[in-house]
Amino acid sequence: MRSRSYRPMLAVDAEGPFSSDDWTFEVKWDGIRAISYVDREVSVRTRNDNEVIGKFPELATLSDLAPGTVLDGEIVTMDRGRPDIQQLFERLQKVRSIDLEYISRQSPVTYVVFDILEVSGKTVIDLPIEERRKILAGAVKEGPNVVIARFVPGRGEDYYKAAVAAGLEGIMAKKNGSRYEPGVRSGNWQKIKEVKTCDCVVFGYTGGNGRRSGSFGALILGLFDNENPVYIGKAGTGFSDADLEKFSTLFSDLETGASPLPGVERPDEVTWLRPEMVVEIGYHSVTKEGRLRMPRFIRVRSDKSPEESTIAQIRPEPIHEYREKRDFRVTPEPPGSGTGSGTKRIFVVQEHHARRLHYDLRLEHEGVLKSWAVPKGVPEEPGEKRLAVETEDHPIEYGSFEGTIPAGEYGAGTVSIWDKGLYEVMEWTEKTIEVVLAGKRLKGRYVLVRFRRAGMNQWLLFKAPE
Ligand code: MN
Repeated sequence: MRSRSYRPMLAVDAEGPFSSDDWTFEVKWDGIRAISYVDREVSVRTRNDNEVIGKFPELATLSDLAPGTVLDGEIVTMDRGRPDIQQLFERLQKVRSIDLEYISRQSPVTYVVFDILEVSGKTVIDLPIEERRKILAGAVKEGPNVVIARFVPGRGEDYYKAAVAAGLEGIMAKKNGSRYEPGVRSGNWQKIKEVKTCDCVVFGYTGGNGRRSGSFGALILGLFDNENPVYIGKAGTGFSDADLEKFSTLFSDLETGASPLPGVERPDEVTWLRPEMVVEIGYHSVTKEGRLRMPRFIRVRSDKSPEESTIAQIRPEPIHEYREKRDFRVTPEPPGSGTGSGTKRIFVVQEHHARRLHYDLRLEHEGVLKSWAVPKGVPEEPGEKRLAVETEDHPIEYGSFEGTIPAGEYGAGTVSIWDKGLYEVMEWTEKTIEVVLAGKRLKGRYVLVRFRRAGMNQWLLFKAPE
């Protein structure tokens, strides 16, 4: 038995189509993401680590590959040249091997592989993507059911147009030189799609009127922020008559009296459900309040779990403002990948000799460095209150940056690390942030309180008494 298993690397939403020599582009296949492990036996597992080789007997041909190979890719069925994900879901519901044999002959799947994680039992995830693609091309022999994903360098906008014209969902952009980050939603992979989509958890529904009086009006949708459910809106359109009927049956098994989702308007009109059903929702954008604009039901995602339906899916690329302000052909500052590992939290204080000397306090939070400029420096004794001006989120890589930002650039001047270490969060809300720093100079409890009167971005920073 193999002990190691990988979580797939995930992509963030791109702002829109782009072209860049630092990126390559692939078709975004609309199917079931699967990592396959070729040893003495072949194992094919979904994002939730469910074994599905039994559902796709035609993928047994993967056993022709060398033992110790681990591939990442997407299982797709084609219907007149376009991926048909509905057929795949239907197949996942089947259990009788005779049915599965029949379907696998009638409409066989193609496993489009785009990455390789192990060769001869050795991991290659730390190699740059260019290297991994070369290894992949050598390790996989294409056949009727397994193909290697094609990619093009640089010309993302043209490629996107061509993909959409061909009826495809969109394309993927992958950053040159990037490693494979298992389980991470990384800025090194970006999805470029015409309609944004996210996988949401159904927390309840409202009653239907008129034609829909027999079924329901809208689905109450939420996502998870860590363990906490967050309300993101209602979807009342996009359902076929068959959907409406199917939902009514699904609902009856999930009904619960409790309301697990705060913030829903008119909660007394909602029938609450246990949060177990995942649906894919198309939307236009996200409001300031964190609600989906123009949400529309697309389909049920029985292959996805509520736990992986996280708020990260609808957050904009986190360091957008940071990137906008800088020209990375000129400044030595890191462009950043937009996400961190999330396993440990770092803090850093950088001494910044800009137009005016100040100290930048940065705390790792939700994959970025939350940042404040502290003109008089971080206090080392309890009692002193200092003004801290919130600035744009910085990439995690900035935590090790030291150097000189050239004249004429944003923040021109010398940056050096004044203190650095790990920290622990005691409280993190809109108004108050309390942390325990474990640096070389700064140690102990620190508090940041939003300073409403002074201005939007102003905070007070002080060291708490022991
Ligand atoms: Mn600064």
